[in-house]
Amino acid sequence: MFKTLYSRLAATLFGLLCLVGIAYVLLTLFTTRTYLQEVTQKLNLTLAKHLTSEKILMQEGQINQEATKDIFHMLMVINPNIEIYLLDPEGKILTYSAPPGVVKREAVSLSPVSAFLDKSTPPSLPLLGDDPKDLDRKKIFSVAPILGNNKTEGYLYVVLGGEEYDTVVKLLQGSYIVRLSTVTGMGILLLTFFAGLLFFNLLTRRLRNLSATLDQFTQSDFSIPLDPLKKNTDTAAPPSAGDEIDRLSTTFYKMADRILKQIEALKETDRVRREWIANISHDLRTPLAALQGYLETLLLKEGKLSPEEQKQYLKIALQHSDRLGKLVLQLFELAKLDSEQVQLNWERFSIGELTQDIVQKFQLKAQNKGIQLEASCQEVLPFVWGDIGMIERVLENLIENGIRHTPKGGRVAVKLLPNVEKIGIEVTDTGCGIPSEAVPFIFDRFYRVDKNRSNRSDGVGLGLAIAKRILELHESPIAVHSTLNVGTTFTFHLPVFKNP
Ligand code: ADP
Repeated sequence: MFKTLYSRLAATLFGLLCLVGIAYVLLTLFTTRTYLQEVTQKLNLTLAKHLTSEKILMQEGQINQEATKDIFHMLMVINPNIEIYLLDPEGKILTYSAPPGVVKREAVSLSPVSAFLDKSTPPSLPLLGDDPKDLDRKKIFSVAPILGNNKTEGYLYVVLGGEEYDTVVKLLQGSYIVRLSTVTGMGILLLTFFAGLLFFNLLTRRLRNLSATLDQFTQSDFSIPLDPLKKNTDTAAPPSAGDEIDRLSTTFYKMADRILKQIEALKETDRVRREWIANISHDLRTPLAALQGYLETLLLKEGKLSPEEQKQYLKIALQHSDRLGKLVLQLFELAKLDSEQVQLNWERFSIGELTQDIVQKFQLKAQNKGIQLEASCQEVLPFVWGDIGMIERVLENLIENGIRHTPKGGRVAVKLLPNVEKIGIEVTDTGCGIPSEAVPFIFDRFYRVDKNRSNRSDGVGLGLAIAKRILELHESPIAVHSTLNVGTTFTFHLPVFKNP
């Protein structure tokens, strides 16, 4: 019970309206009674005075029995609710019109009597005095002094009985107007209650829709695209009001959108990881199987092979072992570069000297292949800022690729292009070039343009991925420009070292 926001709001509204209803009835009871008392007392304000002027009720301290009886009788006939008491100057009850035995008090308080008779300040009505028939109750009255020999011989105290509305039921029974206004008031409260229910229903409908969308979203394993869900809710919802509920739903959609994007990203990462593992195991298995095959052959045909054949088999086995070692090394290198803890050893160094050293290192390899390898820079260069070991790896990879993909008679050149802030490094070859459709993928891990074209024993498709990752860590993008059968140029930049 009361589990939904709507039912709680409805219950609260009901409770509030009940409180308002009770307060209304109590207020009506009080004001009606006070009003009736005021009107009755106002109408009978001079009643006691008229009666005392009509007959001489007391003379020299003695009650005029005849006159008193007449007055009692007359008033009994006119209005049986009225009770008349004769009081002495101290307020003691001398005689009364009520049946014997019903009067409980011996005297009534004179202070309301004095307030009633005070000529200087008109009494604020209703003015209540003691009811002789009840020790606790007060009632409206009219009073007049009985004068004789220039002194007050006593008081004529007239208790104006009127209707007494002690309970709501009595009040309702007694007054048509009160009954009418109560019924009207209750009708208005009931109307307000139903209007409130309708309003709350409208207000909570958007929340219910949002909660349904949320349920749908979570139950769908986060696989439902968000747009159809959004459409569902929007068609059911009243026009957007830009309130808290709207903000809540906007936040939900943003959050759901992020969750979906992150799930997509996770799926993509998982796909790449699986592809990676497949590639790695394939690339490890191939040279390993070849290595094993040649070694087994050597073992099986021991003594049957010529020394040349043996040498040839061993050479091939060594090539595969080299490739295996290189692959493991590159994988290890990439894993290190990917890890969170990778730290660059920032230092200033001469890129000119580094280039010369690397070119020197590859000179023999280039010469053996009949390729011209050279480094050129126009002037004395400023120092650059970076991790020299890593930049060396980048240059090695690019130059090695250049040599590998350039035919005999070709040329591989490293150019240094100084600028104010940065120095550009360009590795150009006159090799086979890269097809334009392959260019966007050459930096992907394990990507090889043409697996038949590339010398499989040489490349594993990780060299450019490593170079790109290292340059990412240096916040320097790498660009490639290639024309098929003309050549390829790789370019990147390093910041010029500035004295702090
Ligand atoms: P690999 O170790 O196989 O060379 P890389 O990541 O270094 O792997 O290169 C990815 C692919 O890009 C290579 O398979 C090759 O086809 C192509 N490639 C890289 N450098 C050059 C180049 N200088 N000329 C032509 N193709 C290149």
